[in-house]
Amino acid sequence: MKLYTMIALSALCLSSTFAVRADAQEVNLYSAQKEHLIKPLLQRFTDKTGIKVRLITGDASGLVTRLEHEGEHSPADLLFTTDIGNIYEAKSKKLLQPIDSKVLNENIPPAVRDPQGTWYGFTKRARIMFMRKQDKANAPKTYDDIAKPQWKGAVLARSSEDVYNQSLMAFMIYHHGEAKALAWAKGIVANLAHTPVGGDRDQLRHLAAGEGRIAIANSYYYAMLFGADPALHDEQVASKVIPVFLDQETTGVHINIRGGGVTRHAKHKKEAIALLEYLSSEEAQRIFADANNEYPVHPKVAPSDVIRGWGDNIKLDAAPLEEIGKLRRRAIILLDEAGWR
Ligand code: FE
Repeated sequence: MKLYTMIALSALCLSSTFAVRADAQEVNLYSAQKEHLIKPLLQRFTDKTGIKVRLITGDASGLVTRLEHEGEHSPADLLFTTDIGNIYEAKSKKLLQPIDSKVLNENIPPAVRDPQGTWYGFTKRARIMFMRKQDKANAPKTYDDIAKPQWKGAVLARSSEDVYNQSLMAFMIYHHGEAKALAWAKGIVANLAHTPVGGDRDQLRHLAAGEGRIAIANSYYYAMLFGADPALHDEQVASKVIPVFLDQETTGVHINIRGGGVTRHAKHKKEAIALLEYLSSEEAQRIFADANNEYPVHPKVAPSDVIRGWGDNIKLDAAPLEEIGKLRRRAIILLDEAGWR
């Protein structure tokens, strides 16, 4: 009996210690990343700091809606998502709060974080063009080139309802102004091989199968063709297409980010900032970027061998993504006006 009491008492002690500790040292993360791309990193963070991470995954727009509905009762301390379009949407709905972190400001270059501290980019991806290998000699040099009449019937691109093309349009507006960007989008529509269908990966498949001559897709979709994930690995497609990095003599290729920030009603703000700071560290940057074959944002961390294999001095656009984010709504209106379905 005495023994039982002792066990029961010590169990009670342990559980209450754990409860206090868990309450004080946890962070709730809403993430639009596929779980396997972020989970190993979160485990390392927990091992290092003792801070437990509760992960809730969902699609980008669903998580924003959820945060909106939950309001101050939301358990989320951090929102992590893809594309400045989605991140800026969360910011403009006041779902994120500004923070000030010397570590984040040192590790993340100003162009890929909010000057006000509501969001931070952690990996970069390029929105590039692909051609079939035999066509490379005639490759366009700029995004503008793809919209020229000589490429009539050549272009494979997903719908403009997708945030990736909205951000690409915002990039065109930022660098060339609305009038030129609209003319550009009209040119792309006139050059489409067929009505937009499928995602970025489908555009690569269509190109490899002999449709069109130019596909627009994010850089990591190409890397996936060579990768270890059997669901995405596709040597057939990989052997037929090559990436082309546009605007290398001018702005650099359009880039976007995965990133996020501390939610407005975060109950574990200190722990949330600790997680963001960890994700910006040299150790985490290597793992985070390599998991999806993206570019690290930390200037001291080199891209993976796969990415370096695409070319040593690829010029990436350096426009502040906050400005690209601000232009998203105009981009949607102009894409619609151009008839990009
Ligand atoms: Fe994607």
